[in-house]
Amino acid sequence: MDARQLESVATVLVSRGAPKTSEHLSRETGLSPRKLTNILHKFEEAGAARKLASGQIRVETQQSATAIADAAVKQQEMVKEMRSRRLEQMQEYAETRGCRREYLLRYFGDDYSGPCGNCDRCEAAAALQARRA
Ligand SMILES: [Zn+2]
Repeated sequence: MDARQLESVATVLVSRGAPKTSEHLSRETGLSPRKLTNILHKFEEAGAARKLASGQIRVETQQSATAIADAAVKQQEMVKEMRSRRLEQMQEYAETRGCRREYLLRYFGDDYSGPCGNCDRCEAAAALQARRA
C-alpha cells in the first residue's frame, strides 16, 4: 500500500473534522472503493478512524494526516511481521522431530515436557525403537 494514497485519504478525512461517506472519500481521492476500503481498514486497525453506524467514517484522533498515514504504515508492518512469525512457527511445528504435543503446549506457554507417546512423532520414534530392538 502506498504511503501517498494513505496520506491523501487521511487528508480528506481530517479536513473540517466531520465524518465522511466513503463515496465522498472516493471522489476526493480518486481511489477505487476497494482500495479505499482497504486503506480505511488500516486506519481502523491503527485506531485512527472508525466506521459509524451510519456508514460514515470518522477520524478518532487529533493527529495530522501525515501522522495517521505513518501510524497505518507501522500497523501494517507489525501485522506483516506477526504473520511471518506465525508462518515460521507453523513451519517449525510441521518440521519438528520432537513430540508435537510438547511443541504445541510450549507454544501456548505450558511447560509440558513430552514425549506424549500419542502423536505421530512419538509413534514414529516408538516404531523406530521397536524395529531396532
Ligand atoms: Zn508426542
